Parts: sequence; C-alpha cells; structure tokens
Amino acid sequence: MTVHIHPAIDAGSPPADADFAGGTLTCHCTTDPVTVRIGSQVAHNHACGCTKCWKPDGALFAQIAVVSRENVAVTANEQKLQVTDDSATIRRHACQVCGVHMYGRIENTAHAFYGLDFVHTELSKETGWAPPGFAAFVSSIIEAGADPAKMGEVRAHLESIGLPPYDVLSPVLMDAIATHTAKASGKLYQGA
Ligand SMILES: [Zn+2]
Ligand SMILES: [Zn+2]
Repeated sequence: MTVHIHPAIDAGSPPADADFAGGTLTCHCTTDPVTVRIGSQVAHNHACGCTKCWKPDGALFAQIAVVSRENVAVTANEQKLQVTDDSATIRRHACQVCGVHMYGRIENTAHAFYGLDFVHTELSKETGWAPPGFAAFVSSIIEAGADPAKMGEVRAHLESIGLPPYDVLSPVLMDAIATHTAKASGKLYQGA
C-alpha cells in the first residue's frame, strides 16, 4: 500500500530557487480570501505530525516552515483571522471561515524561536520555496488517529522520500533550543 503524507509532499517538491524572494499565501476562501505576503525564502521547512498545525483534508502531516516575523505581512482581509488557541506558545492565526492557518507567531520574547513565524508554503502559487527536509513529531500522528501498527511503514516512507523522521524536532532545532536554555541558565557562556 502507498502511504500518503501530504498532497504537496507526495507530489514531489521542486528544489529551492537560489534567488527566491518569497511569495503570497492565500487561504482557501473563494471570496475575500486572506492573503499574507512573505518577503523572503523560508527555513527549516518540514512535515509536522503534531496535532496543532493545520493540515489539508486527509493529510497525515502538515507542511510547515519558519521565516523572520518582519518578513510576514497580512495584505488582505485580516479581519477574518483569529488566534486558534491563546494559551499555545505558537499563536496560530487562522481564517475563521475556511479554517486555514495563515501564520503562527511566538510572542514570548524569552522563547528560543522568538522572532520566527511559522507558515505553510503550499498556500502560495509561487515555486522556489525551500522544500521540506525532515519530518517532526512523527509519533504524534497517532494522537490524531493514525494506526500505531502502521508507524513502521510511515517512517520507512518518510525515509524513502528524503525526510528523516524525528519524534520531536530535528537535531539542529533541538540543539538550538538547548543552547538557548543553557545560555539563559548560565551553563553556557552568553558570548558563545
Ligand atoms: Zn479563508
Ligand atoms: Zn506541528
């Protein structure tokens, strides 16, 4: 059987364009869609299995990347946006009509990822975005209803399409979080 991860990822992602300067994300509304202009390339694009990220219908994973918050601007119909969960670290701004998440923002200035917004590049028609490079929170798809017995197959499929599966974030991002924590606690010299 074939494992379907996410429509954009299953179709194969085109390579990143070296000169790519961003694009416009559009929600799924057919009238008065919310649009968000992303003014740069994204980083750490990945498949995410957590239960909080927005996923297209039927997808096992979300596709999500980060970008500097100063490169994110709502350009139309901002009044349709609402934060899905005020208590979550990442405040996901979703269209109240179609449910699509347009950007997630961290407002806690002490957080390791403060300054980065989380966006779904599949909402843009432009090509040249950095493609996904790993899969995060893979075990969490079980919490959303995936069959635990199929996890070996899911992980093997992720490996086969070049997305190393991790059950938290990638080692690079986990190291960044731990480094931030160690600097904050004084275990690591601030200037390091
Ligand atoms: Zn919408
Ligand atoms: Zn997620």
